[in-house]
Amino acid sequence: MIVQVLGCSGSIAAGCRTTSFLLDDDVLIDAGTGVGDMPLDALARIQHILISHSHLDHILSIGLLADSVMRERKNQPPIQVHALPETLAALRTHIFNGVIWPDFTRLPSAEHPMLALVPIAVGEVLELNGKRVEVLSAAHTVPAVGYAVDGGTAGWWVYTGDTGPNPALWERLARMQVAHLVIETAFGDDERQLARISRHLCPAALGHELQHLAGSVDVHITHIKPGEREAVMAEIGKLGSPHKIRALEIGDVMRLIDEPKRAYA
Ligand SMILES: [Zn+2]
Ligand SMILES: [Zn+2]
Repeated sequence: MIVQVLGCSGSIAAGCRTTSFLLDDDVLIDAGTGVGDMPLDALARIQHILISHSHLDHILSIGLLADSVMRERKNQPPIQVHALPETLAALRTHIFNGVIWPDFTRLPSAEHPMLALVPIAVGEVLELNGKRVEVLSAAHTVPAVGYAVDGGTAGWWVYTGDTGPNPALWERLARMQVAHLVIETAFGDDERQLARISRHLCPAALGHELQHLAGSVDVHITHIKPGEREAVMAEIGKLGSPHKIRALEIGDVMRLIDEPKRAYA
């Protein structure tokens, strides 16, 4: 099982894509602008999209993807979009409303639509084509979740989603063997006030959060704003954390395999 990074930036600029991860070739985790770099035949293989929350940088490729693969996925079941009920309601009301975008839950026909919206709940374990994915809590300005992918003896791949400080997450992760933690750091410490009110992390807050994670884990920083990567990573470097912390990049592949091998040496 592999996780490929399609986008890991807080916003757009040349070379920056917003959040999206591809699990093997059939499951998307968030649907940011990074999805647009995939070839059409690869887009057509996606069967499930797991959405962390309703913010634009995480959802904007869902409707465009549905449009792109309409011909390729003819006679195939709808792509299942998994999210909290509140997130699905937001998608129906504000995106697939016939004004911003057509309602692909009823197109090309109500009998054979491109998309099916599937409600999930925190703590639920999804079984997706042999892959087990647990829904984790997140603490953001809108209802939000993270996801943990079960890599068997290789451990779990964990994505926090957009989140501020989140004690419930660390409680759950204390009972998991975490191989990879993808965690956001959306703001630098100079914008810690903004991070607090928008329920994101800054390096100082990240330091506090990571104190709840035992051992020495591969930690991958995501959601840094374009142009702020070096400053944010320098602040993170000063934390003196026991974890192996690096900035995530487009094209990174994190492997979950049943042998003691790491994606990053
Ligand atoms: Zn957000
Ligand atoms: Zn975001």
